[in-house]
Formats: sequence, structure tokens, C-alpha cells
Amino acid sequence: MSCGCTKFGPIELYRDEVSTRIKETTELTQEFETIARHNGGEHKLLKCSMCDQYWQISRAWNWGNDEYLFKVPRIQSDEWLKEPYVQPDELLIYNSMMQDYIQKNNFVEKETECQADGCRNRAVRFSIFCVEDHIKSLQNAGVLPKTVQGRWFAPYSAH
Ligand SMILES: [Zn+2]
Ligand SMILES: [Zn+2]
Repeated sequence: MSCGCTKFGPIELYRDEVSTRIKETTELTQEFETIARHNGGEHKLLKCSMCDQYWQISRAWNWGNDEYLFKVPRIQSDEWLKEPYVQPDELLIYNSMMQDYIQKNNFVEKETECQADGCRNRAVRFSIFCVEDHIKSLQNAGVLPKTVQGRWFAPYSAH
């Protein structure tokens, strides 16, 4: 008998992928062993009892706050409890908000250098910063959402 874990790849950052996984999750949960619960069960670390594959279960607030499972690397539960893995649904929302913002603003580089410490990029029109530092400054001011919180894992990365 096999568990079916190998049938599931990483969630690609498209809305349909998250919706599909939410549906699949309701059929999958029985095969798992709960290793740890974070923040009263908002996130759970699970292990397949057959193949030892680790999974995290989290809630996708933009999809009706439904739970869904995604594969994660093996980890000690106390380490994971300090910082659960980043959620693909949050990455997706964050990326699309940033894309919208960048598209709307059509940033054009100027001759002058970015004023952020140690940055050698060109500043963009209407800012003293380059695009990245301009966005960072707006994140610090609470105008744009902060970078997604959590422990990074492949295939996702902070940039
Ligand atoms: Zn398995
Ligand atoms: Zn810069």
C-alpha cells in the first residue's frame, strides 16, 4: 500500500492551485500524524505515517480561511514552533499586490543614485530611492504590505 504523497508537487503561485489543494486537503488529512501545533493550531506540522514526508497545514484567508496542506522539508518540532514555514497563499497575494503596484507606477530610472545606505542602484522618478528601496520605505510606513513572514523553503525564495 502506498500513501500518495508523491502525487503532490509544490503549490505553484496561482489562485487555482490553492483552490485545488484546499479541495484535496479534505481527502488527505486522515493519513497524517500531527507533530506540532503553532498558535493554538493555526498552523500544524504533520508527518505522513507511511513515507515520513512532512507537511504543513495552514489557512488561506483569501480563500475563505480554509485549511490546506503543503509539503515542507523535514524539521525538528521545536525549531518549527519558533517559526513555521511561509504560506504559499500569502506569497501569492503578496506577489500579486506588488506586481499591481509596480505596473501601476511604471517606475523610470533617473541619473541619480539611490539614497539608501550602501545602495548603488539608480533612483527612480518621484523618489530618492531605487524601486526596491522605495518599496521598502513604503512598507516601513505601512503603505504597502510587509514581506511575508515565515521560514523560507524551496522552491520559494524571498526574491
Ligand atoms: Zn506519504
Ligand atoms: Zn536602493
